[in-house]
Amino acid sequence: MIKHFRNRPWLMGIICTGALLSCRNNAVTKPASARTSTTIKKPLPIASLTQGVWLKGDLHVHSRHSKESTNNPIAKIIAFSRSVGIDYVAITDHDNHVDGDVAHHTWADPEFTSDSVLLLYGAEWTTTRGHGNVFSAKPYDHKRLFDVRDQRDVQVGAVKKDLGIHLSANHPSGKDHFGYSYDMLESLEVWNSVLWSKNANAIMIWDDMLSSGRKLTGRGGSDAHHGVPDTPAQATENSKQATANYVGTPTTWVFATARTPQAVVDALTNGRVSVSANPFAPRVELYADLDQDGTMDLMMGDNTQATGKPVRFRVQLMGTTTAEGKYTVQVVKNGGPLGTFSASGKTPTVEFTDTPDATGRSYYRVVVEGPPTAYPQVPEAMALSGNMVGLSNPIYFNFDPNF
Ligand SMILES: [Zn+2]
Ligand SMILES: [Zn+2]
Repeated sequence: MIKHFRNRPWLMGIICTGALLSCRNNAVTKPASARTSTTIKKPLPIASLTQGVWLKGDLHVHSRHSKESTNNPIAKIIAFSRSVGIDYVAITDHDNHVDGDVAHHTWADPEFTSDSVLLLYGAEWTTTRGHGNVFSAKPYDHKRLFDVRDQRDVQVGAVKKDLGIHLSANHPSGKDHFGYSYDMLESLEVWNSVLWSKNANAIMIWDDMLSSGRKLTGRGGSDAHHGVPDTPAQATENSKQATANYVGTPTTWVFATARTPQAVVDALTNGRVSVSANPFAPRVELYADLDQDGTMDLMMGDNTQATGKPVRFRVQLMGTTTAEGKYTVQVVKNGGPLGTFSASGKTPTVEFTDTPDATGRSYYRVVVEGPPTAYPQVPEAMALSGNMVGLSNPIYFNFDPNF
């Protein structure tokens, strides 16, 4: 839940040395989505743009408690995560491999503890109707969710609500796609594994869901199952995956109000999230200045009422960027292209202006491509993720928070 922070000025201390480009294409390419009969009573409170911390993590990792996993004990996952600066991890073992009793397997493993890496409680809900991940800051009764997996969505949804968990669709366009109602979700996996090119249909589903009024966070997950074997004798035919797809391919960034598991889950629910190719790739940030006074008022995940006046948007790439590299920023509005911009420099930045429809819903999100970033700890990853750098979550206008 977004807490009641007041909007406040920001950016005062940030020096933007990147090329600031003005909008080349303000054209509205598609009419805003059809109006719903629901009147938006008031926009969600706007959380602070400055009081918080960026945390990076992986939301889909399998340990030895998943039967097909190899060489991947929890201690190895945590030690690796720490070594590459990962802040949080959700170890999501297949619940059907332990009859739903993840509490006495993954969570009860003596290795399931860390002083430095935040560990979320969860599992991959592995059912006949598809796969979903649960994310929780604290233990919950996962067995209840497992036990209702073959019941109707209304019954599943009621249990999910009662458990107070964040539910997320996994690999929505692949086999084992999520076959339940998307109305019971907080997020979906729009970027599964290092193979970005295989996620085009997941992105299409995300845009369909957003266009229908669902405010659903897009997130990443490596779905890594295999670790590097400690000895050559431990190698399996899948061991080669460990050098191509492991923790952080991709990396999901959250802007959390604190460095706690609960704040990570809340940020994920609120959509203050972007996804990058790996832990060292630049982070995509999207902001909006509603009154064009030079102060950003919203960031990705935020939802507000449209005024009918133009809004200034800003995209920034934060972290290590390739100094001479040129990045391409594609802006998506309501599922269609709004414009393509290029940016370079130390902090590549793009600004553009558009007017969200005063009465219908609108959303804006961005996809950034450019020079790949090396990930030496997973040496084959860079080639496989190609030129995909990262993507933002949307900024929303006139979305009903109670949809
Ligand atoms: Zn799965
Ligand atoms: Zn999985």
